[in-house]
Amino acid sequence: MYRYILVLILLVATACKGGTSSASAASSNNAASRTALTAPSQGAQTAGSANQPSNTAGDLAGPTSTTNGGNESSAVTMANGPERRIAAIHDSPVALDARSNAPQGTPNPNRVPNEMGRIMVLEYHLITDHNGDYARERGQFRKDLELLYNRGYRPVNMSDVLDKKLNLPRGLSPVVFVFDDASPEQFRYINNNGKLEIDPTSGMGIWLDFRKTHPDWNNKAVYCLLSGASAGHNFFGDRGVQGQKSNWRFPKVKWLADNGFELCDHTLWHAQLNKYPDAFVQEQIARNALAIDSAVPGYKIRSMALPQGLWPKNRALASKGSWTNPKNGKTVSYDWPVVFEVAGGPMRSPYDPAFNPGMTPRIQVIGNAIEAMIDKLEKSGNMYISDGDPAVVAKR
Ligand SMILES: [Zn+2]
Repeated sequence: MYRYILVLILLVATACKGGTSSASAASSNNAASRTALTAPSQGAQTAGSANQPSNTAGDLAGPTSTTNGGNESSAVTMANGPERRIAAIHDSPVALDARSNAPQGTPNPNRVPNEMGRIMVLEYHLITDHNGDYARERGQFRKDLELLYNRGYRPVNMSDVLDKKLNLPRGLSPVVFVFDDASPEQFRYINNNGKLEIDPTSGMGIWLDFRKTHPDWNNKAVYCLLSGASAGHNFFGDRGVQGQKSNWRFPKVKWLADNGFELCDHTLWHAQLNKYPDAFVQEQIARNALAIDSAVPGYKIRSMALPQGLWPKNRALASKGSWTNPKNGKTVSYDWPVVFEVAGGPMRSPYDPAFNPGMTPRIQVIGNAIEAMIDKLEKSGNMYISDGDPAVVAKR
């Protein structure tokens, strides 16, 4: 049943790699050959997103004003959430321990809680031996974690944002990691004398090692999965790609869900959704959701990432649709609030009335993009900083 899919893979062999189509697609008509994801062209990474309006793209203008205008004592009912008091806090810098010995890069002690501010959603692809538009070198990835930790960021899941459960200590900021494409570089097993272990040189290995010395760095990150793409982009590797066995696929996905990480749909084989009819779009998304459900029965997916940021012609199908399996007549439906775009800057706070998870912008981790955005957010003052009190929404 996958043969025709493999043919189609060859036709869309650019996969994540915006626009570099594809010597490999043209050079092979062998349905069994699995096309390597080719290197991206510079500037192609935002293909498809440039013309898409984003609710949060652009400057770091403050959140849309609520009715209280910052009045300290008034209450505001937030859409889609419990009524909470929004307190203006202007006078309470965050105390941090051992400031005198603080290494360079530690959180600014004057961080004023602001739970209406922006949140970074970081977009990663390969964690590997070089840097590129779709690749982060391993040591650099580790440095990213160090940088974020030292600047006061802690990882959260997108579901925590949706549920407004960003229960961080006072003075800290949430950051959402999103890993696209389910590559073995992100999560690889090694067979150590019959015992399966997470490869310490894979992204997950680096993450877990970082946690050993940073215990408050939680296992929170969103994995936007492919379950039938080429070159091992199939639940983190199959058919011997990078030594990964096909029967390790489901255990890896299950392990993620069991260990705090969040699963996200990235289509079956990374189809450019703008090119296909509605039924095909829904099949791409629903069949991948079905595969995730096979790995983790009953798992509730709450997000999808658009391959290359390309919206289907019928945009609503990115978040809601269905597909009926012709083999058994069973219908698979999907319905989730979050659609990740490819770029666009930091997203709005879930307490911001203009928060729109259906068009969630991300920050591509290229070069010093993280540090530059942290600096920009700090300068603007419009960054989400927790007040440590889940009952109060701190407003700067
Ligand atoms: Zn992708």
